[in-house]
Amino acid sequence: MERLRAEFAQGGLGSPDRLDVLHPERQVVQAGPVGGEPAADLRLARELRDTIRSLAAATVDGGALDPDLVATLNRHAGHAPRWRELRTTPEPHTTERTAGRPVAAALAEVAENAVDLLGGPLRDRLRACQRTGCLLYFIRDASRREWCSAGCGNRARAARHYAKVRRGSGG
Ligand SMILES: [Zn+2]
Repeated sequence: MERLRAEFAQGGLGSPDRLDVLHPERQVVQAGPVGGEPAADLRLARELRDTIRSLAAATVDGGALDPDLVATLNRHAGHAPRWRELRTTPEPHTTERTAGRPVAAALAEVAENAVDLLGGPLRDRLRACQRTGCLLYFIRDASRREWCSAGCGNRARAARHYAKVRRGSGG
C-alpha cells in the first residue's frame, strides 16, 4: 500500500500498464467480475490523482474546496464496495474483499484515504513539499520539517549548498 501511494502520488501513471501497481501487493480478494477497460481505468486514476492534488493544494492554501472536485472525490470513494472478512488460516487475520474490480477497489481506497485526510484532524498538518519540482504533500509532524521525505530534504539541502558554492566562486 505504501508503494501504491508513492506511485500514485508521484504521478507515475503514464500508461494502462502502470495501473498494475494497484494490483500485486494488495490483499484484495475479488468477488466480482474482472472486466474493465485499461484506458478507462487510467482515465479514472488520473482524474482521481488530479482531484486529490487540487483539493490538497486548496487545503494547504486555506482556500475553499471546489464543490465539483469534492463531488468527484466522493464519487470515487463510493465507486467499489469493499469490506473486510475474517480468515482463520494459518492464523486469524483479515482479508479485504470487493464486489468491484481490483483497480476500481484500489482507487476507491485511495479516494477514501483522501476523504479521511481532507476532512479529518490531520488536514491542518497537511503541507506541500518545499523542494523545487516535488509535487508531493505530507503530514507534518512536530519536527516542523519542510520536505515530504528524507530524500527530498537531502536533495534540497544539496541544491542550496551547490548554489552557495557557485555564488562563492564568483560564477
Ligand atoms: Zn518532496
